[in-house]
Formats: sequence, C-alpha cells, structure tokens
Amino acid sequence: MYQAARGTSDILPEEQPYWHYVEQKAADICRLYGYQRIDTPIFEDTSLFSRSAGEYSDIVQKEMYTFEDRGGNSLTLKPEGTPPVCRAYIQHGLSNRPQPVKLYYITPIFRYDRPQAGRYRQHYQFGCEAIGEADAALDAEVIEMSWQFFKSLGLTRFSLQINSIGCKQCRPGYLVELTEYYAGYRAELCKDCKTRLEKNPLRLLDCKQAGCQRLADAAPRNLDYLCFECKEHFSNLQKYLEILSIPFEVNHRLVRGLDYYTRTVFEFQPEEEGSQSTLGGGGRYDYLIEELGGKPTPGIGLAIGIERTILNLKKENVRVPILPGLKVLMTNVGEETRDESMKIAAMLRREGISATSTAGGKNLKAQLRQANSLGVRYAIIIGENEVKTGTVTVRDMADSSQKTVPVSDLVSFIKKEA
Ligand code: AMP
Repeated sequence: MYQAARGTSDILPEEQPYWHYVEQKAADICRLYGYQRIDTPIFEDTSLFSRSAGEYSDIVQKEMYTFEDRGGNSLTLKPEGTPPVCRAYIQHGLSNRPQPVKLYYITPIFRYDRPQAGRYRQHYQFGCEAIGEADAALDAEVIEMSWQFFKSLGLTRFSLQINSIGCKQCRPGYLVELTEYYAGYRAELCKDCKTRLEKNPLRLLDCKQAGCQRLADAAPRNLDYLCFECKEHFSNLQKYLEILSIPFEVNHRLVRGLDYYTRTVFEFQPEEEGSQSTLGGGGRYDYLIEELGGKPTPGIGLAIGIERTILNLKKENVRVPILPGLKVLMTNVGEETRDESMKIAAMLRREGISATSTAGGKNLKAQLRQANSLGVRYAIIIGENEVKTGTVTVRDMADSSQKTVPVSDLVSFIKKEA
C-alpha cells in the first residue's frame, strides 16, 4: 500500500481548523503591521539557494531536494523562504517602491533531514521580510510582530532570545578568536564540529551535543567583539524592545543556521525545550540582496514553523474555532422526488446556504443517519406529498423537531433560523 513519502504528512479535514486558524491570524497580524502577501514558485534555480545560505550550511551540504529538469537546468525545491522573496524584490524592481517593502508568505519548505517529532521533510512556514531599511527600530518591530502573533494565537508559554552576530567589519576578527579558542579543544569536538571548525566556525556555538555545548558556553562572545556601529545597533534594538514591553534574553550562543545573517538574530522557544522545538526565528540579512545581484539593500525577516506552532497550540490546550460545516442535507424517497430534491439543493446553494442532496438508493432512515453523521443542521425530507403541495419537511437535527415549510419560504426560513 502506498504511504506518504517519509517525513511528509497529509493534513486531514479534522486538522484543518488549526491550519485555518493559524493562517487567518498570520494574515491579520500582517495587515496590522502593513505586510502584503507574496507567493513565489515552489522551485528555483539551485544556485539561488546555494549562494545565499552559504556553501557550508547544513541546508546546502545535505538538505536540498535538487533535481535536473528535462532541459538540463538544476532546480531545487524551496528549502527556505527568504532567498526567493529577495530574488523577486530584485527581479520586479521593488527597490523603486517606498522602502521598506514589507512582504509575507505562507509556503511549504523542503529539507532532506532526519524525520522526528517536529521535524519533517516537508513543512510549512509563515514568513515575513522587510526589505530596504537598516534601522534597529525595524528589527524591534519585526520581533514585536512575531511576539504579538504568538500572543494572538493564545500561546503563553514561549520566550524570546536575541543576539548580534556582527557585520563584515567585525565578524572576521571574532571568528579568528573563536577558531583559536576551539583549536585548543579540537579532540573534544564531535565529528560535525570538527568540520565546522574548518568551514563554518560560528556554527560551533549552536551544536546540540553536550560536550560541545560546554565548550560553547565558555567560548569568546561575539558581543564582546562588535564594531561601534553593530554595538549601537544592538543596544538600540534592546532599548526599543523595552519601549515595546517585549521581554527578551540575550543568548550569546544564538547564531542561526544560515550564512547570510548579519547583526540581529532572534528565536522564539517554547517553554518545554528540545532541539526540535524552536517555534520560529529570523534576523537581519544586510548583504543578501547584493549577494544575489541587486543594489546593496538591508533587510530583516522572520520565519515561523506552522506545524510546531500547532503542536504548541495543542500542548497549551488552545481551542480553535470549528470550521462551518454543511448546513443542509436534502433527502429523497426515490426517483420521483430525487429531481425535486436536487433542484432545491441547487436553489439553496445559489442563496449561499451550503446544501447537498443524497445520492444512491438509500432508504430514508439511512439518509437521516447520514445527515446525523455529517453533522448537518437540517435534513430536508421531500416525499411525494410534499412535491404535490410545493412544500418540504424541515427536520432540525439538533432536537429532531419537524416543520412543514413551503418551498417558496425555505430560503428565508433557513436564513432566519441560522
Ligand atoms: P528556519 O528556516 O530553519 O529558521 O526555520 C524556521 C522555523 O521553521 C523553525 O523555527 C521551525 O519552527 C520550523 N522548521 C524548520 N525546519 C523544520 C522541519 N524540518 N520540520 C518542521 N518544522 C521546521
């Protein structure tokens, strides 16, 4: 029997109220903060991702779904949301619009990773990008927006961590110090960290192995090596977050997985920690647009995992609204009344009342059982007598009461009752 591919899942109707709820809240918060929706293709030129994430990032090294199409082009299923939006910003000349350009998306993301609870090979992200402004006030607004998003969902048990990872001026000096420190402990590092030491030393700081974590705790701190501008940016960010009453913690080990981040990085953690638990995060990417061929343009973004958000809604027992179901089931008593039943269902739908008529040759009792299991509000019974008199019998499934209603009054009857 076929199964969904490893690390992917079907979102069945009973899960949809959660998805609808989260997507609706995402759209609401974006409207409040002035973000407009953008949708980009599911796949892009492979080099868009390899150039932006960094050759030695986990994504490029081992997680991309890359394939060659029939024309011999190398394409990759979106492993993250930011580079496609930056590509679109450049391609469509969005730098000519008032800056910052604020865009949001909800998209599937594909990463060939080891599937486990909270980590999938296809997952969905709600992300925002604010492109064209370098001021730390924008960083604070983006972070506040993420905070308010989680709050608006009804989540309470999460916290915010921030850090600054510097810029082109100050980061190289820091990396020298960091590499020197770790070189003294080479033998104690896990296998991955030995490679990181050579290729991507910043990532040594967020290794999840206990031994490496101890070393990371005592490692030189990026914040002590920031240049004047980065220091000022970071202290402004903290000041603005305080003004906005957003509680945060500075975590000097927070670096994020991608090379393109500069200065501000942030993450939201649920209270019950674990390596697969991060709800979302983001940061500044002031060189990315230029790296992708645009004019030098600063930017900042965030990405929130929808599955993990839903996982936390469930953990916190947040009740989400149920989606409106079918209102009316039209029954029939055989060929003679089936035509009339179909006609009435069509009339109701044209009036915006959800309705369907039973198909197949079930008897009336079975049709009423079907109405019950579908959870409809009304079953409408139409026998030969009703056809003759131009009426129907409306059965309220909540209390099994029945009323005879002329077909001509049916729409107003149902609308009034609702
Ligand atoms: P990232 O692009 O890695 O910063 O991811 C942003 C958010 O997406 C994370 O904080 C998670 O909530 C979620 N996420 C990332 N990778 C996965 C995955 N493999 N499966 C499920 N959710 C993920």
